Amino acid sequence: MNSRYSRQVVLEQIGPQGQEVLLRSKVIIIGCGALGTNIANNLARAGVGTLLIVDRDFVELNNLQRQTLFDEEDVGTPKVSAAVRKLRKINSGIEIKYLIKDLNNTNVEGIIDGFDLVVDATDNIPTRMIINDACVKKGMIWIYAGVIQTMGMVMNILPEGPCLRCLLPEIPTAGSLPTCETVGVLNTIPAIVAAIESTEALKILLKKDIEKKLIIYDVWEHAFRTVEIKKSNKCECCIKKDFKFLNQENREIITVLCDNGVQIIPPRDMVLNLEKISGTLEKIVDHLMDSEFLLKFEAEGKKITLFKDGRAIIKGTGDVGAAKSFYTRYLGL
Ligand SMILES: [Zn+2]
Repeated sequence: MNSRYSRQVVLEQIGPQGQEVLLRSKVIIIGCGALGTNIANNLARAGVGTLLIVDRDFVELNNLQRQTLFDEEDVGTPKVSAAVRKLRKINSGIEIKYLIKDLNNTNVEGIIDGFDLVVDATDNIPTRMIINDACVKKGMIWIYAGVIQTMGMVMNILPEGPCLRCLLPEIPTAGSLPTCETVGVLNTIPAIVAAIESTEALKILLKKDIEKKLIIYDVWEHAFRTVEIKKSNKCECCIKKDFKFLNQENREIITVLCDNGVQIIPPRDMVLNLEKISGTLEKIVDHLMDSEFLLKFEAEGKKITLFKDGRAIIKGTGDVGAAKSFYTRYLGL
């Protein structure tokens, strides 16, 4: 074994055989933000043989506070290509691939096919529900994780359950959940959550005993706890095998408008509480205006008009990925 991995080879939990297993392993990381960059960095250095990173976003200046593989020169470039350029310099002995893509219910099964493990580093519940359905259906293990403010969560999800829908049966409506844009995130918590997630990933690849509970950590309070999530005997996903997020036909409709804008129509009917969303956004956006029927604001050089049914018109970009990402980040959908 070459000396690159000598500190892991002498480690009782890994050893030379374990290192060989890692070098033969294939992991897909979905999302290349604060969690994704930290996890990719950990797994590439640990010698996981094949990594695929999937993300639709471009690097923005505000990402540099916590997204560790990027620097100022990367602003404006696709996140995954910038990340992979760095990772290949870190470890040229493994295969590191990327996909600039919006992972959705129509492409997820093909994208995750053939991997030993799916690692969640996304920033929204609808994508996680799609990953959950796909992994339960295909009998694959995935690791759920999320961070917000000073707190983070990790849970290993086995195909037999409990799954994400045992924990969260439905998708909350847009604007009802806080996002890192609306309430912020300290840059130390994604690093810790990514370390926990990366450790669980190595344990899964090495077929060791893994944590079955939901892990919750608050870096500000140093409060660490684990919560047992019971498998719901009514779970539509891991019990009844009704993969409704995977099979949804009414996908969101996204239209590029002629005047440097994009319209997003969400996949299902929603009734938004515009007053509540307005209250959440008040301190972080410009020119906020709300009425009974719509809400308008400006941020990051883009203007958004949001209607009560969840439809939005985003001006200032003709790029579908950038518009969808903007919508997700400010509205948590
Ligand atoms: Zn379930």
